[in-house]
Amino acid sequence: MFNRIATGLAATCLVTAAATAAFAQAGEVNVYTYRESKLIQPLFDAFTKDSGVKVNVISASNGLEQRIKTEGANSPADLLLTVDIGRLEEAARSGITQPIKSDVLEKAIPPQYRDPEGHWYGIALRARVFYVSKERVTQTAFTYEELADPKWKGKICIRSGQQIYNNALFAAMLAKTGEAKTEEWLRGLKANLAQKPSGGDRETARDIAAGKCDIGIGNTYYWALMNDVETDKKAWAQATKVILPAFKDGGTHVNISGVVLARYAPNKANAMKLIEWLVSEKAQQMHADINYEYPIRAGIPINATIANYGPLKPDPLPMSKIADNRKTAANLVDKVGFDN
Ligand code: FE
Repeated sequence: MFNRIATGLAATCLVTAAATAAFAQAGEVNVYTYRESKLIQPLFDAFTKDSGVKVNVISASNGLEQRIKTEGANSPADLLLTVDIGRLEEAARSGITQPIKSDVLEKAIPPQYRDPEGHWYGIALRARVFYVSKERVTQTAFTYEELADPKWKGKICIRSGQQIYNNALFAAMLAKTGEAKTEEWLRGLKANLAQKPSGGDRETARDIAAGKCDIGIGNTYYWALMNDVETDKKAWAQATKVILPAFKDGGTHVNISGVVLARYAPNKANAMKLIEWLVSEKAQQMHADINYEYPIRAGIPINATIANYGPLKPDPLPMSKIADNRKTAANLVDKVGFDN
């Protein structure tokens, strides 16, 4: 379905029914995504219904940037949907993107959540927060800085310091407090760990439920998924509650899921239609509900489970500043032996 010649042939054959002809005329768009296709298909179906543009989806759990790079100028990819500023920035850096400019996007997406050069755009937000033991933690307000406070010695669980979500959190700390303070903070956090960094965000909730630690660092949507969808993990969510921490002089660390336009997008006009549609009110509502993320567009209701965490006050740091500090953050993690 991604062969452009075959697509052209198919399009010229589809002239019998008026509706089909209109559909063919509207053409198609090829989306590469790390999102599970059954989760995002309802979104693409809604777009097709609104626009007439058919969405072809290539879904994978890794390697899509490399695939686009290998396909080169013949790549059928029009756009790539991915999560985390780290992956978006790596995509832009690897040369597989092209910059875009759009009044619709600039109006819907606050400037801190899009690339100043237009290579990537956020379409939803997630926050990196704390899962704390319901039983053993009574404190209700936290800063990220206090993860290094000796009062939490042996109480904290976290996944690898090199994992992309933690890399962005540490890069944010760097951008806000500088290298010396961040190194000291990382050493303090490491000293407070209950165990060697391991697992994923869900497993930190599991380990809190098992009594191995009291505070875990996790993304907002994992807790909601465990609580609302993944019945086998509901007990892990139920043993914990979500706290939205803040930087001492700021807000809660947020990250984006987002989109890039492929450098050789064969259906660029339709890709732009889809990207702009993704920030429409309807799409924002659907996307946020399906993925348990925060809408990026103002004024869209937040999923009830997510809203229950309390009001999110995102730290104002632009994503591009986090991107600028990713490499230093990775070096510091090695320097302090965070994962050892
Ligand atoms: Fe994730």
